[in-house]
Amino acid sequence: MGTTDDRGRARGDADDLDPATGDDPARRRMVEHDLVGRGITDPAVLDAMRSVPRHRFVGAGQAAAAYDDRPLPIGDGQTISQPYVVALTAESLALRPADRVLDVGTGSGYAAAVLGTIAAEVWSIERHRGLAERAAATLADLGYSNVHVVTGDGTAGLVAHAPFDAIAVAAASKTIPTALTDQLAEGGRLVIPVGPSRGTQRLVLVRRDGDALVERHITDVRFVPLVEGPATSRDEADAGEQRPDGVGEPRRPE
Ligand code: SAH
Repeated sequence: MGTTDDRGRARGDADDLDPATGDDPARRRMVEHDLVGRGITDPAVLDAMRSVPRHRFVGAGQAAAAYDDRPLPIGDGQTISQPYVVALTAESLALRPADRVLDVGTGSGYAAAVLGTIAAEVWSIERHRGLAERAAATLADLGYSNVHVVTGDGTAGLVAHAPFDAIAVAAASKTIPTALTDQLAEGGRLVIPVGPSRGTQRLVLVRRDGDALVERHITDVRFVPLVEGPATSRDEADAGEQRPDGVGEPRRPE
């Protein structure tokens, strides 16, 4: 069980913490080597990445690899995002402590925990009920009481809790869903992988400026597809075959 601050934001996992430094050596190495080493600079993002215990969001069999900078399987044919891509997404969203955030594609709940460590409130939506339930249990166990998990179709956003200061999408869409840009607050930011479901996509930052939407290309990535509609038994059968090169794996520069 982690500790929480007065806003319900979790502060790491007490089991692993070095009382002197407040973080874990494997996580610290990952942050310095894979995040700082590749250009992540936002101190709030780096602090969050040092505090969230990624090993608690993967199965016991994967825990030894939890601080490798790569995606790992989490069941239902899905993967926990690569730490570098979670950090890059959070940094691109320029999160502030009072922000309300929508996270599309909860998966393991890891990215939601990172976002919830930086921002005030996170609504995270996942179409696979089993994953959503497991993520909600992990987040509750670790004390992330400001992160709320909902089962549903994230392409429609979450109108009941809109508008959002920031929206993070962790699955690739052929186009940018207008429901998501409609749910951005003034000055709100959206990060979404855009492109074909197999192969390379563009990670795009969209910023609402009045009625205008300003787009910027962040980098190229490979994510699992954003699938419209509720998860069905057919999905569960297909999931075993669907093995992208790596969820959230950016293409290394040549
Ligand atoms: N951010 C997650 C990893 C996400 S993998 C983590 O840190 O673990 C992408 C997730 O998006 C998968 O779990 C997939 O089931 C989910 N997904 C795909 N399409 C979706 C949709 N339309 N609505 C909600 N979730 C969706």
